[in-house]
Amino acid sequence: MPKCPNCTAHMKEPDKEWDFGRFRVKMYKCTKCGNQFREYFMENTLKFVLSAHNGGLGKIRVTKETMDRHKTYQ
Ligand SMILES: [Zn+2]
Repeated sequence: MPKCPNCTAHMKEPDKEWDFGRFRVKMYKCTKCGNQFREYFMENTLKFVLSAHNGGLGKIRVTKETMDRHKTYQ
């Protein structure tokens, strides 16, 4: 079971799954902290993980949502 790189909560099923070149990509959205991350598999071996919480996915919607949420606290 994959873990969220941000809060280490366990994920069940990927939100989306697709092929990216020679990789199989599994996208997860953390139900606990809302972080989005992607696992890249090659021949059923996990090669690397990109996560939105540390900017690994670049600017995506999650970042904006986080910023908006942050704004309401101010
Ligand atoms: Zn999380």
